[in-house]
Amino acid sequence: MQRFYTCLAEQHDPALLALAVVICAVGAHTSFVLLRAAQTAAARRWRWVALTALATGTGAWSTHFVAMLAFAPGLPADHGAGLTLASLALVVLVCGFAFQLALSGRGWREWAGGVLAGLGITAMHYAGMAGYHLVGVLLWEKRLLTLSIALGILLPMLAVWLALRQPRPLPRLLAAALLLLGICALHFLGMAALIILPEPGGAPLAAAASADWLAAAVAAASGILLLLSLAAAALSRRAHRRERQAEQKLRSLADAAVEGLLLCEEGRITGSNRSLQGLLGRADEWFTGQRLEALLPPGQTLPAALAAEGRAEAEFLAASGEIIPVELVTRPLLHHARSQQAVAVRDLRDRRRAEARIRFLAQHDPLTGLHNRAGFGLELERALALHGRSGQGFALLALDLDRFKWTNDTMGHQVGDALLVKVAARLRAAVHATDVVGRPGGDEFAVLQLDTSQPEAATALAQRCIELLSRPFIVQGQVLNIGASVGIALYPQDGTDIATLARNADLALYRAKSEGRGTHRFFEAEMDTRMQRRRMLEVELRSALALRQFHLEYQPLLGLDGDTVTGFEALIRWAHPERGLISPAEFIPLAEETGLIIPIGEWVLREACREAAGWQEPATIAVNLSPLQVHSPGIVEAVRGACAAAGLDPHRLELEVTETALLTDTDHSFGTLRALKALGVRISMDDFGTGYSSLSHLRRFPFDKIKIDRSFVADLGENADSAAIVGAVIVLGKSLGMLTTVEGVETAGQLAHVRARGCDQVQGFLVGRPMAADAARTLLARRQAA
Ligand code: C2E
Ligand code: CA
Ligand code: CA
Repeated sequence: MQRFYTCLAEQHDPALLALAVVICAVGAHTSFVLLRAAQTAAARRWRWVALTALATGTGAWSTHFVAMLAFAPGLPADHGAGLTLASLALVVLVCGFAFQLALSGRGWREWAGGVLAGLGITAMHYAGMAGYHLVGVLLWEKRLLTLSIALGILLPMLAVWLALRQPRPLPRLLAAALLLLGICALHFLGMAALIILPEPGGAPLAAAASADWLAAAVAAASGILLLLSLAAAALSRRAHRRERQAEQKLRSLADAAVEGLLLCEEGRITGSNRSLQGLLGRADEWFTGQRLEALLPPGQTLPAALAAEGRAEAEFLAASGEIIPVELVTRPLLHHARSQQAVAVRDLRDRRRAEARIRFLAQHDPLTGLHNRAGFGLELERALALHGRSGQGFALLALDLDRFKWTNDTMGHQVGDALLVKVAARLRAAVHATDVVGRPGGDEFAVLQLDTSQPEAATALAQRCIELLSRPFIVQGQVLNIGASVGIALYPQDGTDIATLARNADLALYRAKSEGRGTHRFFEAEMDTRMQRRRMLEVELRSALALRQFHLEYQPLLGLDGDTVTGFEALIRWAHPERGLISPAEFIPLAEETGLIIPIGEWVLREACREAAGWQEPATIAVNLSPLQVHSPGIVEAVRGACAAAGLDPHRLELEVTETALLTDTDHSFGTLRALKALGVRISMDDFGTGYSSLSHLRRFPFDKIKIDRSFVADLGENADSAAIVGAVIVLGKSLGMLTTVEGVETAGQLAHVRARGCDQVQGFLVGRPMAADAARTLLARRQAA
């Protein structure tokens, strides 16, 4: 170090020394301003690289030679012109290559470029020293020499790296300072390492002349440097202005964006746009310097997908404390030649709300707000998953409103809808908070009861529902009385999957409805087999007509005033190829439910009329009409057509209807009966005494005949009430001008009884069982002959 100080302080002219340092500083700074221009140049980068190399080279070279001029070793010295100029060319060329390399990519190229620049400068210095002659012997102190070379390479290398990586003005100044330091260290340590031993007999050199041309060369080089530096300063100002404008443009663009935007660099936020500030209720300053994680609610981490796929959903915590679902999309961005990340932040609240709404609509019935079939299914699945694990039971209740269809059809859909809303409200009130009420469709409701004390809880709930729903409803000023039936299936004994549970609850419901409605039934395994048989029958019934599996039997009716067979009742028979004869009591209800009764009934009419047309007059034929037939619009035409086709006088045709046909849409039913009567057909009231037995029905329509149900005849002997009723109906019939027929007469005693009461006609096994058509024909012929 001592040598270094002595060298600087005693062997150099201070004014020139200062000039050398200034030149070096200007050169270094100019170099990096130009290097920055080269870095951002879109095209023809090599021009900028050449200018940069020129600035670095002339800067270093001028420094060296001004410092050499300042050097006064006390002996005459001389600089060889060839090597001096060659060293300038060398440093400019090597630096050119060095910068081109450093700018060609990141990492080792930057370092290698820096090293090469350092080498170029060092080589320039020692080439210059090689051309330095004086009267004496030059020796080198090894340690200082090594240090000079090492710093001459290392410091420029660091400077280049810093200038490329941190191109803002301040770090650039630092880079320039490093280069300055590098060149000075190289030169002055190198000079300190120099030991000059005077050579006593040496020839004197033309020192003055040598200094003159060198000064001129250095002045020229410095001039070039000055020009370059001025140009660089202007360039730098312009670049700075452009950068600011670009920044401004970028910022207003970002602020105009609807989406939130963040700019991040090395994991830290460097900027935010106005949308994001609004979204989170925070100022721009709050964001700067934060990590992205700081925007998440405490304890949350950034989703891994963000780094992996550049897109992820997350939650942000707003200043207000609100947690906002967001979608984040990141894109790498080269901003000011620094690699940054733009993060787009999309507010997902609206989408989430819309999704929730869609989910609600998909799972709920818009009318009542109850779960629809899909939503209820999901609730069932959840219950299954939950209770399947815990092994606890639950109940599924299927509810059906008893007279809803009728109300809906006669009162209109508005009343029907209002009624359903009220039913839903009562059901909600009937269940516990943990239970789920659903409306799978139409007038079907369902309750999922999450109570483990089964079957008691389900029984109580079913009774509560039935009781609540059988209370009158007041809808649009009308009092409506409906009722409900309930079928119950229990988990796990009646099924361990949704489909089985639902089907079994429906089976139990079906049973409850067929056993009088207004009641509840639990599922029993035997219901299943019966239901299966029913389904099979239903399928087979559809093809029975086409397969000609039906035929008619005829049961005689006996007129009591002459004891003669006055006619027959046609009774349908289904001869099933495998099951044998199936009773109409079993398949007629099925045909009614499926609507198949219309074509089947028409076939019966035609067949019976065709058969009866062959009988001797005045034998009559009675045909049963189901309520559905009475309500069907084509019935009058069907009856007229059957008589016409067979050539049967309509007076000989009797149509038997039950009271159920008159219960709904009464006016229309009576209209139909009147139209039928107008054809000449006679109308009988069948099964009287079993249904509502409303006398008003008898008074409202002039039936030709009342058929007293066979249930009264069966206990004529034991039951005094039955005898009284049969007697009263006969009297009533007479007073209304209607004939009376007693059905189901099986014994002579019964016959004697009803004959004594003044009955007109009997039908029953005593007179004759239902028989084949030819047997009926034979019977008629025999009676007539007698
Ligand atoms: P229904 O109209 O009351 O027919 C009389 C039923 O009583 C017949 O049963 C008959 O066999 C039975 N019966 C007659 N005399 C006696 C008796 O002395 N004792 C007993 N125990 N029973 C007697 P069937 O043929 O099984 O018909 C049952 C029901 O099926 C009929 O009752 C009727 O409502 C319906 N039905 C039969 N054929 C037709 C049809 O072609 N169309 C429609 N719509 N319904 C029909
Ligand atoms: Ca009948
Ligand atoms: Ca009957």
